[in-house]
Amino acid sequence: MRTINDFIWSVVLQQNDPSDRKPVDSVHTYIVEFDGAAGIEWGNNINVSSLYLKGVEGDVKTQFTGLMYHEMTHVFQWDGEGTAPSGLIEGIADYTILKVYDNPYGFANPGDGDSWDQGYTVTARFLEFCDGIVPAFVAKLNKKMRFTYDVKYFENLTGKSVDQLWKEYKAKYGH
Ligand SMILES: [Zn+2]
Repeated sequence: MRTINDFIWSVVLQQNDPSDRKPVDSVHTYIVEFDGAAGIEWGNNINVSSLYLKGVEGDVKTQFTGLMYHEMTHVFQWDGEGTAPSGLIEGIADYTILKVYDNPYGFANPGDGDSWDQGYTVTARFLEFCDGIVPAFVAKLNKKMRFTYDVKYFENLTGKSVDQLWKEYKAKYGH
């Protein structure tokens, strides 16, 4: 968890100044039996589903570690004090996984999806594209989301609206 925490601060959110970081004293992880999700983050606690782990196909260590990168991102990311769209929040959490693994298991391909805020791996791939336009885009977007959220942050950072970016993203991959 320390390794994941350091990775999120230094590589994903790029919060080298501690005053930029969300103050978190401790994070607890529990493996418990529940259905409907692989993991849940709540108030600096992470629940991982034992049922999910039991059903993992392939390398359980990699899947578990990837899940921890996702949930730990929720602990440390800003969410505009609850005003940011959940699809974006989940997309940033999966974007962390993209930064760790070259071709993560079960991920959308670049260009996949119906909308930028569809969430999870679709939004993660779109954020990767935005990173290609503006270096450290995700870190900069997260920084703006500390106290509130505005869809215009995309335009502030790239000079293009999020809808325009999505169009260019789809066009780039022939969709
Ligand atoms: Zn999540």
